[in-house]
Amino acid sequence: MRQKHILIIEDEESIRDILTYALRKEGFAVTEAKTGGEGLAELERCRPDLVLLDLMLPDMSGFDVCKRLSTLLKIPVIMITAKSDMVDKVLGMELGADDYMTKPFDIREVIARIRAIFRRIEQISESLDMQSFDVIKLGANIEIRKDEREVWKQGEKTGLTNKEYDLLLFLAHNNRRVFTRSELLDRVWGFDFPGDTRTVDIHVQRIRKKLDSRQGASVIETVFGVGYKLDTQVRT
Ligand code: CA
Repeated sequence: MRQKHILIIEDEESIRDILTYALRKEGFAVTEAKTGGEGLAELERCRPDLVLLDLMLPDMSGFDVCKRLSTLLKIPVIMITAKSDMVDKVLGMELGADDYMTKPFDIREVIARIRAIFRRIEQISESLDMQSFDVIKLGANIEIRKDEREVWKQGEKTGLTNKEYDLLLFLAHNNRRVFTRSELLDRVWGFDFPGDTRTVDIHVQRIRKKLDSRQGASVIETVFGVGYKLDTQVRT
């Protein structure tokens, strides 16, 4: 298996050192950045598989970095912060972070979470019968292009975030199967979310806003009292 590359964006040297040391020992390739600007430059340059992102950076907020990398590059993000405020946690998740750690953290837990994210990505991209197709068509004008991790509508990119894309792809891979909100949290986010299933609803709303036409059925169907499914005629 190819060595996974992790980018650490963190201004505190001691924390960077601990993370870099532990991750290299686990067999990951590591690149470090001290500021948000440096981090964004490194993202372009080294195209990491995952980003560990500090929330409080000297030049910009980790949220801004997260928003950019989640939309543009669709790289999974674990946010790291000194704050234990739930509002931050929820906001981070809504911006597309995959997981969230509060300092001080246990390094073994960080590694376990990183491995869990990589496992989940493999599961999502390998699940069920649609897995072998590079392009999944939803209805007449929407295309999920897996090689780009991008969804196109009428010849234009729709700018889905990392998590919005993962959720849509998961439902497309499991076409016509209904999932409860908790199941989706578990399968797509895969961690014990402390809030509720609002995160799923918010992501569904955003996907609909980006993909649905004014008239006609929604790409993602609400199954009243149960959850969501994708019941578009899927063609490849
Ligand atoms: Ca910091």
